[in-house]
Amino acid sequence: MTKLAAVAYRTGYPVTEVSGWRTRGHGPQPEVQGIVCHHTAGPAAGGDYPSLNVVRSGRPGLDGPLSQFGLGRSGRIYVIAAGRCWHNAPSTSPWHDNSSSIGIEAENSGSQPWPAVQVDAYIALCAEICREFGLSAARVKAHREVNTSKPDPRGIDMDKFRAGVAVLLAGGPSAPAPSWTEEIVKDLPLIGPNADNYDVKTVRGCLFARGRVPAPIYATSGLEAWLNRTKADPELVELVKAFQSVEGLDADGWVGPQTWPHLLRVA
Ligand SMILES: [Zn+2]
Repeated sequence: MTKLAAVAYRTGYPVTEVSGWRTRGHGPQPEVQGIVCHHTAGPAAGGDYPSLNVVRSGRPGLDGPLSQFGLGRSGRIYVIAAGRCWHNAPSTSPWHDNSSSIGIEAENSGSQPWPAVQVDAYIALCAEICREFGLSAARVKAHREVNTSKPDPRGIDMDKFRAGVAVLLAGGPSAPAPSWTEEIVKDLPLIGPNADNYDVKTVRGCLFARGRVPAPIYATSGLEAWLNRTKADPELVELVKAFQSVEGLDADGWVGPQTWPHLLRVA
């Protein structure tokens, strides 16, 4: 399932492709009929995704990878494995066992509040997976819903969660930007003409997710190649300016504290 990174980028949230993900898995994934949402039960502190090593490499008694995707507290998506993962056995649903479903392990101790940005990214990731594999929002399940001995993801109301997925699948509007944007934005660099770094890819992904990148722009090189370019070339600056105009911002082509929150919103 080497499309999984492209699926993640389409959400518009930041993505980390964990080294080796394309060849990681317990054999190839036979099919995708559902999605199982988990929490890591990892440490309550310790960065964005302290459970990465466990999810990638396993723990005593259970070999990794444990799930195809990880999800950090900041909403960053970690692409961990393209193959089958050990995230739900036994399953009470034929569409949600290890051979028929994709697992997402979101960082949360199981007893702490969920940041709004993380839940929004969780919903967006599920929606893009559904879109990719032709699934309805009803195929998104909590681990506890398909394995009666499990509690996770604790604190998430799955009916509301699935309703959010359904809204995104229908292309409709989602909730307005919550206050988390300020917290995220202070860690993001100023991106302007000729910037050349990883966060330029985030700008590209967000513009695409907002429907601001016309198909002819990536028709030649391909969408994935376009999204992965780290340089802010003149074409990208023009797209940023057009986006800023639509959003009622100063159309200066620079992505900073004013523009990042608009780009990062789940729209
Ligand atoms: Zn679980």
